[in-house]
Amino acid sequence: MAVFVYKFGGTSVGSVERIKAVAEKIKKSRDQGNHIVAVVSAMSGETNRLTGLAKEIQSSPNNREMDVLLSTGEQVTMSLLSMALHEINCPACSYTGGQVKILTDSMHTKARIREIDDVKVKKDLDKGRVVVVAGFQGIDEEGNITTLGRGGSDTTAVALAAALKADECHIYTDVDGVYTTDPRVEPKARKLDKITFEEMLEMASLGSKVLQIRAVEFAGKYNVALRVLSSFEEGEGTLITYEESEMERALISGIAFNRDEAKLTITGVPDLPGVASKILCPVADKNIEVDMIIQNIADDATTDFTFTVHRNDYERAKKILEDICSDLGAKEVTTDDTIVKISIVGVGMRSHAGIASTMFKVLADEGINIRMISTSEIKISVVVDEKYLELAVRALHKAFELEQE
Ligand code: ASP
Ligand code: MG
Repeated sequence: MAVFVYKFGGTSVGSVERIKAVAEKIKKSRDQGNHIVAVVSAMSGETNRLTGLAKEIQSSPNNREMDVLLSTGEQVTMSLLSMALHEINCPACSYTGGQVKILTDSMHTKARIREIDDVKVKKDLDKGRVVVVAGFQGIDEEGNITTLGRGGSDTTAVALAAALKADECHIYTDVDGVYTTDPRVEPKARKLDKITFEEMLEMASLGSKVLQIRAVEFAGKYNVALRVLSSFEEGEGTLITYEESEMERALISGIAFNRDEAKLTITGVPDLPGVASKILCPVADKNIEVDMIIQNIADDATTDFTFTVHRNDYERAKKILEDICSDLGAKEVTTDDTIVKISIVGVGMRSHAGIASTMFKVLADEGINIRMISTSEIKISVVVDEKYLELAVRALHKAFELEQE
């Protein structure tokens, strides 16, 4: 008998009708002889609504109480789904994270799972019940309710799948899988049948928001077969898994982009030991995350130093650089918040030469100037002017043959 963990996101349980449809889907799978654990999110908009209420009372709400508040969203859904299952004669039982028990650390609003007690869940499954679990939440050693950070229901589902050694963990959402790129930018984007954990992590951290990054990390670590699929349409979705044979491997699996970056340069910096830290320490002290970093070779004993930050941090980072510029003996600060980062991602890159040069040639042929470049083992990123985003993504998508057949 197969064990499945199904996770239903906010839009999939966004109304009574949707909850009833989810119940039917679960019943159908159970009737085929499967053991089902269903992890649910709050109904769409609910977590935001609750956050709004809290902020009307405290501009920066108490973290412990925030968790008590936000965990109620998932609790509403779990009971309604369990009722919907009862209504169609499918035995079911719902539990909060604390009831399961999903033990976490005490970092309120971004807790991490430490341990899952699977006894209760297994007992129910053995009795033929569907077990419905509230996503996104757990309980700490002291019995305080905790939550796992936005999008955390994905992580609940993967962690339960790992604990139960489930055959697959299905993440039901409002898209039918993971795409080669955002179909809103390139309508010829193709749904991938498979993608590796590593590639998915890169895609997710680059801004493809299908899955919570932590859930992908967890699934990779515990080798949970993870499938993203639509709760609205039939289909196989996308399987996220370990690398398969060399043969099947595509060179590039996808193109991700990030519109949220800004670039800052400090020119004419004396080329001396400690300069990079003198520039970046004050930035880190203000909790500003730095993404790409480039330092040029020095010609006249001075160098230019460029890095990118999230656009929300742009003004603050700019101010810091302007403040340290003269102390450093640097020339000037130049900045640009109209840039984007575009990345090609693929494990196939490891074993093939010439992928970077192909990428650069494609951009050159379109007359697109590359402002920064960075690479990792399975990714090449470039920074270009924002106005070229669509053109660049489409040209790369075509050149790497990612289009629909
Ligand atoms: N309800 C939470 C959120 O909106 C958790 C989740 O849906 O995964 O972030
Ligand atoms: Mg989500």
